[in-house]
Amino acid sequence: MKITNISTLCLSRPHELERQWVTAKVRVIKADCAIVVVETDEGITGVGEACAYGQPLIIRDWIDWYSPLLVGHDPTDPRIVPSPHNKSWAHDCAIGGLDSALWDLKGKIAGKPVSRLLAVHPLQKVRLYASSGCRYDWRIRPEQLIDEALEYIAAGYTAMKFRIGTDWTWDGVTVDRFLGLVRELAQTVNGRMELMLDGNQRLTIDQALAVAKELERLNFRWFEEPIPQADIDGYARINSSVAMPITGGEQFTTIEQFRPYLEKKAYKIVQPDAGICGISAVMQIAEVAHRYGVDLCPHNWHNGLMTMANAHAVAALPNPIVLELCMIQGPLQWDILQEKPPIVAGWLELPQSPGLGAGIADGLESRYPYIEGSYAITVER
Ligand SMILES: [Mg+2]
Repeated sequence: MKITNISTLCLSRPHELERQWVTAKVRVIKADCAIVVVETDEGITGVGEACAYGQPLIIRDWIDWYSPLLVGHDPTDPRIVPSPHNKSWAHDCAIGGLDSALWDLKGKIAGKPVSRLLAVHPLQKVRLYASSGCRYDWRIRPEQLIDEALEYIAAGYTAMKFRIGTDWTWDGVTVDRFLGLVRELAQTVNGRMELMLDGNQRLTIDQALAVAKELERLNFRWFEEPIPQADIDGYARINSSVAMPITGGEQFTTIEQFRPYLEKKAYKIVQPDAGICGISAVMQIAEVAHRYGVDLCPHNWHNGLMTMANAHAVAALPNPIVLELCMIQGPLQWDILQEKPPIVAGWLELPQSPGLGAGIADGLESRYPYIEGSYAITVER
């Protein structure tokens, strides 16, 4: 079997005004998607989603540039797969999509789900956590966060991650005020779902230490990216101050990047993403992290095909815990697939069909034509 063609579908869907969301100073105005399609001379096609943070058109450009290296070759030949190199975000996202598409293809050729190529006894379903909590506005009605949590409980989810809201300087938000909202949320949820907080690298170390202590008291599952990523010693300090896991590394694409964080005990959970670095790199990072007693819970934003790639990886991990599911992507998220996989009581049931088990729908480019420009705009108040 030989690869005959590689292409990239670039898709968008504008968010309705009421569905646009603001976190920090960023207003997100549309959903984007980039899907890498690898065709073969035997009519079998592999598909993989590249994280749209890399910008679909730049991702397509990288895929086109790599294409001559792969066309004419056997898709199962490991020598043809380029590696993420941590020099360009778009490059590594493109590799993420391409690597996932090649795994889909390898699964279809072997007649096995990707998770079974990655592990002998993978899970058949993966626990999801509802990821959002980034629509509340400190000026308008921060309690919207609590309404959102109740919606997810009603929908059957047993865990939720939220963010720290709109820019704190706009409304004089302090750690105390923030923790007031966090306590109200924890009280309302009252053990019905696990909670995680993502600081998106926005806190100072003193703020982060105070927040971490309170989150631990409230039995939070983890505290993600509390401070700027480059401060490894700061991470190590926060991580040693609480038993609750400090997590991070969603932007990292190589094992080398994780090494100093692992050696300095900066994270208890690492969070690479198959859409950003590929399934191969995620599994490699998991193996190295496991040596340090560190678990892996992938970052997983954007759309359903990437969710399937990350779900197969989670199912095959040495210690599978939970998978992120973006709750605010809108209809594009699952419309890209022929069929949405079953999500029952917060668990994603992995299709046991070959590959990723997720074919892409027809006519996507005419239904969701790509809208040029960034998915987000910076706002000031
Ligand atoms: Mg995050």
